[in-house]
Amino acid sequence: MSIVYLNGKFVPDDAACISVLDRGFIFGDGVYEVIPAYHGCLFRLSEHLQRLQNSLDAIRITNPHSPQEWQTILDALIDKNLGGDLSVYLQVTRGVAKRDHALPKDITPTVFAMANPLTPPEKTTLQYGVRAITGDDYRWVNCHIKAISLLPNVLLRQQAIDAGASETILLRNGEATEGAASNLFIVENNALVTPPKGPFLLPGITRDLILELASQSHITWEESTISEQRLRDADEIWLTSSTKEILPVTYLDNQKIGDGTPGPMWHKMVDLFQAFKKSLGQ
Ligand code: PMP
Repeated sequence: MSIVYLNGKFVPDDAACISVLDRGFIFGDGVYEVIPAYHGCLFRLSEHLQRLQNSLDAIRITNPHSPQEWQTILDALIDKNLGGDLSVYLQVTRGVAKRDHALPKDITPTVFAMANPLTPPEKTTLQYGVRAITGDDYRWVNCHIKAISLLPNVLLRQQAIDAGASETILLRNGEATEGAASNLFIVENNALVTPPKGPFLLPGITRDLILELASQSHITWEESTISEQRLRDADEIWLTSSTKEILPVTYLDNQKIGDGTPGPMWHKMVDLFQAFKKSLGQ
């Protein structure tokens, strides 16, 4: 049992209830964030709250809380769940109204947050890397909005699981965009390449941090489209997200990437990433 936050109250998860008319339930009309907390401290909170603001603006919901209020709520949630390493999920839906596609006036958004244990990737995962497959990116054209309506992502991720892989790397018009629940990097001749931000991918917080760390360490990087062939020919492929950090892909569609083990640039970036967390006391 964990303690969750719902509309101003902290309650046991099995006691938290929302209306069946909540537009999140009826339409998937809402947005969310997933924020890691290490040793009880929220990681890159202001970046996550800025992305939340952007998502809310894009779907025309007024942010129910200031950044300070969000921090107070989420810190209390972490305390009530005994701190440690947690994955903090928050969601804002448009609220409860009679079912009608048109945006209702004057309704109160529903605010929900929960904290789950954050488990680092298994040692063997990091030693051998993970398998990924490619799949057709049939999502909508507003993938920069972190919308709770994730049915395509759910089905695309399951496609990977069914194939014995960890993730599906999505291809749109012959170009790789991102994973079903992660951003994409490749390494070519010791340089990092990641697709540019835009409507076809989520602007990942982990993605931005990796570029920041690369710049600080004079690692060359570019934002550039990645054709299917470029992806398959890469020296290394990584998938990044707040909960998985940086995962090395060593097989793509059953073909070896590089020598089939996590590459030297991945080792370097993981060290930089962990050193950065440590420097914050995390
Ligand atoms: N793209 C998609 C589609 C995702 O679901 C996620 C993880 N939420 C990411 C990218 C990675 O974003 P972040 O680094 O902010 O977790």
